[in-house]
Amino acid sequence: MVPNVLSHPLFRAVIVGLLYYSGAWLGVHQTITPDGIAVFWPPNAVLLTAFLTTPRIQWPLYALATLSAECLADIPAFPLWAALSFGTVNILETLIAALMIQRLTGKQFRFDSLKSALVFLVSAPAIASATAAIMGATVYMLLGRSDSSFLAMWRLWWFGDALGLMILTPLLVTLCHAVKYRLVPFKMAKLAELTLLWVGMILTGSNALIDTSINELHFHLTPMLLLPFVVWAATRFNTAIAASTTAIIAGMSTGYLVSGIHPYATTLPQFAVWQTQEYLAVVSIISIGLSALMQELRDQRHRLEFATEALKYQNELLEEKVQERTQSLEQANSELTSLNSRLKELASTDHLTGIANRRQFYEAGERELHRLKHSQGTAVLIALDLDHFKTINDQYGHEAGDNVLRQTLPPVKNNIRPSDLFARVGGEEFLILLPNVEEATAVRIAERIREQIATAKFEVPSGTTRITVSLGVAEWDQACDLSTLINRADIALYQAKRGGRNCTYTYLAGTEEGGQVDPGPV
Ligand code: GH3
Ligand code: MG
Ligand code: MG
Repeated sequence: MVPNVLSHPLFRAVIVGLLYYSGAWLGVHQTITPDGIAVFWPPNAVLLTAFLTTPRIQWPLYALATLSAECLADIPAFPLWAALSFGTVNILETLIAALMIQRLTGKQFRFDSLKSALVFLVSAPAIASATAAIMGATVYMLLGRSDSSFLAMWRLWWFGDALGLMILTPLLVTLCHAVKYRLVPFKMAKLAELTLLWVGMILTGSNALIDTSINELHFHLTPMLLLPFVVWAATRFNTAIAASTTAIIAGMSTGYLVSGIHPYATTLPQFAVWQTQEYLAVVSIISIGLSALMQELRDQRHRLEFATEALKYQNELLEEKVQERTQSLEQANSELTSLNSRLKELASTDHLTGIANRRQFYEAGERELHRLKHSQGTAVLIALDLDHFKTINDQYGHEAGDNVLRQTLPPVKNNIRPSDLFARVGGEEFLILLPNVEEATAVRIAERIREQIATAKFEVPSGTTRITVSLGVAEWDQACDLSTLINRADIALYQAKRGGRNCTYTYLAGTEEGGQVDPGPV
C-alpha cells in the first residue's frame, strides 16, 4: 500500500492539475509543427486516468484541477471564456469515456483483456473524442481565428485528442496500478531483453522516421519497421512496457515532425501530420489490443496453473484417503478370513476330542467314496460305540466320562493311517472310514482297536477303570452311498451289542443283519 498522503484526494488533485498542465504545455509547445498543426493532445489522458482509477465522489475535484490547469495554460493566448470552454470540452470528453468504459467493463478498469482493450478504443478515442471534437471545433469557429472549415477543425481536434488518449492512457493507468499495488522488478535477463528492444527500436526509429528522398532511390526504411518492436513489447512484456514502447515511438515521430523532419518524402506538411497520426493510431491499437490479449492469456494460464495445483493437492488427499481405506479394508478382510477359517475349523471339529465331527465326516466321506468310485477302489466302514458308558458317567461323573472318552482316541489312532477318516459322530460313538482296504484287513484293525481298549487302563479321579467297545464293520459295495454304508455298519454294531458287547460284527450283505466275525490273528 502507498503512504496515506499519496492517496489523499487533494494531493491527487494537485498531481492531476500539474500533470494536466504539463500535458497541455507539451501539446501546445512540443507537438505543433512549424506550420501550426498539432499532432496529438496529451493532457486528457491524465484526467481519464484519474477518473478510471478513483471513486466517482472524487471526480469533481479532479475536474476542477483540470479546469484551473487549462486556464493557466491557455491564458493569455485565449480569452477566459474560450479557456473555460476548452477545459469543459475536455472534461466532458473524459467523462463520457470514463462512464462508458465503467458501464461496459465494471468499476475496476484495467487493460487486462481483449474486451477491455476494445471497450477503451471504442469509448475513448472513437466516441468520446469524436463527440468532444464537435464542441471543440465549434468553440474554435466562434473564436474566428481559423480559416479552416468546421469539418477540418473537427477532424484535427478529434485525431489529436484520440491519439493523446490512445498513446498515454494505457501507460498512465498501468503505472497507477503498479504504484497502487506492487511493482514486480524485472530479472536481469528480462532487463537485458528490454534494453535490446528499446535500443534496437530507437536505432531503427532514428532511421525509419526521418526524411528521405524517394528520388534518390537509396536505402529507404519506413516507419512500419517499428511494428515488430511494438509486437515484441506487447507479447514479451507487460502492458506498462508495451504502453511505454508506444509512447517512445509517438515521442520520436512527433519530435521529428515538429522539427520539420518526416519520412513521407513527397508529402505536404499537412498530409505528413495526418499520416503520422494514422501511423501512431495503428501502432497504439496494435499495442493496446495485443498487450491486453497477452495479459488475458497470462491471467488465464495462472488461473489454470492454480487450478491444476489445487486439483493435484485434492488428488493427493484423495489418494491418501483411498490408501488408508484400502489398508483398513485389507486388514478387516484378513481378520475376516482368519475368523472364517477358524469358524470353518470349529464347524468341522469336535470340540471335546479335537477330531472331525459328524458334519465333516459326511462331507469328506462322500468325497472319498466319489473318488474311490472313479478309481475302482475299495473301502470299509467301522462303527465303534463304548459299552455301558452311562455307568462310567454315573460312577465317576460327567467330567471323568469326558476324560475317558478322550483316552479312547490313542488306541484307535495307533491302528489307522493318518489319511483314514476318523470322527466322533455321537456321544460315545465313532466312525472310521478306511479307503483301499479289504474287509478282512478292516476286521483285523477293528479287533486290534477293541483289544487295545479292552486291555488299557483308563484314568478316573479315584484311580483307573476299564472299558470295552463294540464294533460294526461294513464293506463298501462300490455302489451305495455313505449313509447307507453307515446304516450297514450300525446294523453290525447293533448285532455286536446284542451279541454281548466287546466284540466285532460284520454286516452280511443282503441280509440286513450283521454276523460275528472270526477275527483271525489280530
Ligand atoms: P451301550 O452303548 O453299551 O448299550 O450302553 P451305553 O450306556 O453306552 O449306551 P447309551 O446310548 O444308553 O448311553 C450313552 C451314554 O453316553 C449316555 C451319556 O451319559 C453318555 N454320553 C454321551 N455323550 C457323552 C459325552 O459327551 N460325555 C460324557 N461324559 N458322557 C456322554
Ligand atoms: Mg454305548
Ligand atoms: Mg451309544
